[in-house]
Amino acid sequence: MQAVNPRHHLGEATLLSYAAGALPAALAIVATTHSSMCMACRRQLRMAERIGGGLIALQHEAAPPAGAREAMLARLDACASSAAPALGSFEDAAAVGPDTLPVPLHPYFGRSLAGLPWRWMAAGMQGIRAGIGEGTLLMLRVAPGEGIPMHGHHGSEFTCVLQGAYDDEFGRFSAGDLAELGTDDRHRPVMASDMPCICIVGLDGDLHCEGCSPQALQPLFVA
Ligand SMILES: [Zn+2]
Repeated sequence: MQAVNPRHHLGEATLLSYAAGALPAALAIVATTHSSMCMACRRQLRMAERIGGGLIALQHEAAPPAGAREAMLARLDACASSAAPALGSFEDAAAVGPDTLPVPLHPYFGRSLAGLPWRWMAAGMQGIRAGIGEGTLLMLRVAPGEGIPMHGHHGSEFTCVLQGAYDDEFGRFSAGDLAELGTDDRHRPVMASDMPCICIVGLDGDLHCEGCSPQALQPLFVA
């Protein structure tokens, strides 16, 4: 089993957007996945939600919509119940049991890593794309030592590591860590663990290549 001790967290702007319900769905799902593994971010989200509710009340001289705060706290409590869902390696996921995936991913990928319908996307890379309407939600499984070509983003890219680790221009990202990248950020992730690295990736825009053919990133968008 791999310990989950996140070192990369939700940014302040994301906390406030999330608490206001203003994050695009693909990004919110990844943020929720991280918070399900991170007590620090769950606390921050609760605080942001209370501050946000207070500001809305001041701005409109009225309370937030009835039930909005309760619904938000209920979602966070649901996340809390899945705190630190340490993942085993992909190979022994079946032995871990049916609750291997973080709870926020169950509606999109089911409960367990075992038996997921991985599809070949590129050499050393498999993926599963979830239908969420707008944006892109991908689970990626990348073999040790493999990389993803240098790319930038027309929009935001949130990544939460579920198993293994990768290195890029922003540091090392291990199980539980969240990476937030925006339109000005470019990176080339290279897998850094001796087990496959499994990540959940949310995008609210396209990727663009830096020095590679556009076809190199096409598999990330073709179901
Ligand atoms: Zn966190």
